[in-house]
Amino acid sequence: MEKVDAIIIGAGVVGLAIAAKLSRTLQNVLLIDKNQSFGEETSSRNSEVIHAGIYYPQNSLKAKLCVEGKALLYHYCQSRKIPHRRLGKLLVAHGEAEEQCLAKTIEQAALNGVNDLTWLTSAELKTSNPNLNASAALLSPSTGIIDVHSYMQSLLAELEENQGQFVAQTTFVEALPYDGGFDVTLNSQGEIMQISCDYLINSGGLHSTNLAGNIRGLAKAHIPKLNYCRGHYFSYQGKSPFKQLIYPVPEAHGLGIHASLDMGGQLKFGPDTQYIDTIDYKVSSKLKEKFVAAVQRYYPTIDAERLQPAYSGIRPKLEGPNDGFKDFVIQGADEHNITGLVNLFGIDSPGLTSSLAIAEHVQSTLKL
Ligand SMILES: Cc1cc2nc3c(=O)[nH]c(=O)nc-3n(C[C@H](O)[C@H](O)[C@H](O)COP(=O)(O)OP(=O)(O)OC[C@H]3O[C@@H](n4cnc5c(N)ncnc54)[C@H](O)[C@@H]3O)c2cc1C
Repeated sequence: MEKVDAIIIGAGVVGLAIAAKLSRTLQNVLLIDKNQSFGEETSSRNSEVIHAGIYYPQNSLKAKLCVEGKALLYHYCQSRKIPHRRLGKLLVAHGEAEEQCLAKTIEQAALNGVNDLTWLTSAELKTSNPNLNASAALLSPSTGIIDVHSYMQSLLAELEENQGQFVAQTTFVEALPYDGGFDVTLNSQGEIMQISCDYLINSGGLHSTNLAGNIRGLAKAHIPKLNYCRGHYFSYQGKSPFKQLIYPVPEAHGLGIHASLDMGGQLKFGPDTQYIDTIDYKVSSKLKEKFVAAVQRYYPTIDAERLQPAYSGIRPKLEGPNDGFKDFVIQGADEHNITGLVNLFGIDSPGLTSSLAIAEHVQSTLKL
């Protein structure tokens, strides 16, 4: 049987970051994905925002890995020439109750080590952002945008520079742990293959819990329920009225329908939140009314004609529609007792921002 040091299942941005990281330490790292290429699921269906890490509860993995990941990601982008821009974002309030949320956000951010937020009054906003309607805003200067595809390409190049390998159109079927490793069955375009490895990483995103069900010996108690929460985007044709990202005060399961720009300067609004039962990326044009109403609060002169359905992404969420905050789950042997196995569950936002820090966390979970 062929043998490698590590198999990483799932070539989204997180699996790629883990594979690139492990390939610096291990000889033979194999990254697989069931799709035609890398990053075809959640990693190419998001806002492409480098988050500051201001909202998440103190000491949560999301807070810690977002703040660490942001610093690592900006450094990585600079050193590997990945297109990105530190545009900054405005978190906008309308009225006293929302301004109180902004004040609490400053405190929460400080607990997470983010101390660079500044308060802008409505008079200051009128001068700097004449198209914006808000009674006050917080400026987060460390928020930015990134070309995720270039970032993923660079991680893949790093893996290959270190003699690691990426194989597409290859589906994980099952794994059988033995003392010190795993016998793994893969299906590569209809051909069944057996490979053994010392380390097995489940970074399967929306499929991570189904995958985990096919790791023999992993107790069902360690496999959480995953919920699908779709977010839709509408693009805004023509010149953007904003130079920064504009966010409303966060809502229950997302950050609210915000305005973000891509590296080409295209403005888009979204994502909203809609829990769904099956993976389906449709964007109904009927959502336009809801989008116009949400955006009008901070951009009253929006031209609905310029708003077009664009794309959607699905958050792999551990929290259901009636639950509160749930953190990333990154399980190693201390949790499930299977040496060499790491399962990643619920890697929704800020998974992109956190990706390099998640990779470091996985490496230390493996005690490498
Ligand atoms: C609407 C939306 C907006 C977001 N915005 C942001 C943002 O602005 N900033 C931010 O930091 N984060 C954001 N996120 C979160 C971020 O996109 C994700 O955390 C990140 O992309 C997760 O990457 P991943 O590698 O874990 O998952 P994925 O990209 O989903 O990759 C998982 C891979 O596993 C593969 N796979 C699954 N099963 C198998 C199998 N059996 N065999 C082989 N391969 C398999 C899949 O094909 C897939 O390619 C957003 C998410 C959504 C949905």
